[in-house]
Amino acid sequence: MIKKILISNRGEIAVRVISTAREMGIKTVAVYSDFDRFSMFAKYADESYHIGESPASKSYLLADRIIETALKCGADAIHPGYGFLSERSYFARLCNDNNIKFIGPSPEAIEYLGSKTNAKSIAIKSGVPTVPGTDHAISGLDEAKLIAGQIGYPVLIKASAGGGGKGMRIVNNPADLDSALRLAQNEARSSFGDDSVFIEKYIIAPRHIEFQILADEYGNAIHLGERECSMQRRHQKVIEETPSVIIDKDLRDKMGEAARNLAKAAGYTNAGTVEFIVDSDKNFYFLEMNTRLQVEHPVTEVRTGIDLVKEQILVASGEKLSYSQESVTFNGAAIECRICAEDPENNFIPSTGKINYLSKILGNGVREDTGIEHGDEISIYYDSMIAKLICFGNTRPDAINKMKRTLSNYQISGVKTNIKFLLELLNTDAFKNGCYNTQFIENEFMNNKKSISSDEDNLSAGIVASVNFKQRLKGEKKLHITGKRNHTGGWKSKRFFGS
Ligand code: ADP
Ligand code: ADP
Ligand code: MG
Repeated sequence: MIKKILISNRGEIAVRVISTAREMGIKTVAVYSDFDRFSMFAKYADESYHIGESPASKSYLLADRIIETALKCGADAIHPGYGFLSERSYFARLCNDNNIKFIGPSPEAIEYLGSKTNAKSIAIKSGVPTVPGTDHAISGLDEAKLIAGQIGYPVLIKASAGGGGKGMRIVNNPADLDSALRLAQNEARSSFGDDSVFIEKYIIAPRHIEFQILADEYGNAIHLGERECSMQRRHQKVIEETPSVIIDKDLRDKMGEAARNLAKAAGYTNAGTVEFIVDSDKNFYFLEMNTRLQVEHPVTEVRTGIDLVKEQILVASGEKLSYSQESVTFNGAAIECRICAEDPENNFIPSTGKINYLSKILGNGVREDTGIEHGDEISIYYDSMIAKLICFGNTRPDAINKMKRTLSNYQISGVKTNIKFLLELLNTDAFKNGCYNTQFIENEFMNNKKSISSDEDNLSAGIVASVNFKQRLKGEKKLHITGKRNHTGGWKSKRFFGS
């Protein structure tokens, strides 16, 4: 059994992993950059080591330095979290070469599935439906024309090595193909160091539905149900939920089986996610496999009662899965909202600054995964996510109500946030009745069809929503209203404090 885990990550996911490790009686080691010296995760771990400067390329991406630290402090395993080195096969290999367990799949599986075209060909071989198009990198414009002509416009040009919603171009007609191809190749080269692209049919207004997979080293692979991730902006997830209102038991069984088959065919071990898009006729098509723990994994945890990090650690220790497919049960409904430091009114540009006020009221059925506390700074160096709120109820409306209430009581001052925007999304009819697709935000909010509110209003709305809280704050304003910097506006908003 693993005795000491080094977490080669930061922020909320480092905190998340440390918590489970500690519950399992495993020692934890954090590594931190200059910027993160006093971060929650660095203070929380049993041991913490400085590994470099603030830019990720000078700290969290320094594979050799991280391995060296693990060896020095006697960590026998590394958990990579998500992002950073989590999907770099050379890092997993370096761990293996140094007798350190990499808590994730084999380097071979990461490498192979890291290419969307390879993953697509495994899907085809294992009988999993894929989006019509190529399962190999295209050679050039002539082939692109040929394929696009065969599958019909609109088509999507995608980077084989793509990720994070980057490296994709929609092409609506043949006249645009040449320039779109060149742009996609350039973007792929600069973002991923690999200009291979492939082409597939652009499915109009699909759902993004993904399946959580767990697999051990003994050939067992199970799925833990779906996550509905169609609430996206620029191909990136904003709100995730499980179950999806469009998935009934039959479709869940079918897609879950497809995901398990794919994992088995790829020789996959540990936790992973098989992503699909589903069209309006409920045909599903494989998109890609993410060979790591996913940002939105908590919704699956609260609905199945299975701690995914614990299973990851057990599998990496060589244990068999603790669950069979039949023993996985699904209860209630769960939603996750990603609270980000960004400015919805200004094209969602990241917002930086010091958090000079932070207050929240969680409660029954509410989980918060965060690595940020009062006084912390949100910097340009890392992801803009402040926290993930996960709400769980017996029914979907229960979970939604909890989320609205919790978001309304979540107050941050010092940076702009998307809280108000999240509340607006939750309040749309489309979200309420579950009828939304990956185009929803773009169609409803980005084309000026609806204006996006600032979180000045958001904090105000939250405070108005909880009158008692507001009144109490009124009496205590001298305790809090000190910061001059006030992007979020909540505390400068005189109408709420009567001054
Ligand atoms: P997921 O694919 O888990 O749903 P996203 O699509 O939001 O997550 O993330 C896009 C990419 O950015 C992923 O490769 C993820 O690993 C990475 N990423 C997201 N958040 C962070 C973070 N806080 N730190 C580092 N990388 C991140
Ligand atoms: P990434 O690695 O960036 O996550 P994905 O292949 O998972 O790339 O696609 C990200 C998102 O882009 C999907 O969730 C979906 O919204 C959209 N997308 C990808 N492929 C297609 C397609 N063929 N048709 C329509 N939308 C697509
Ligand atoms: Mg994806």
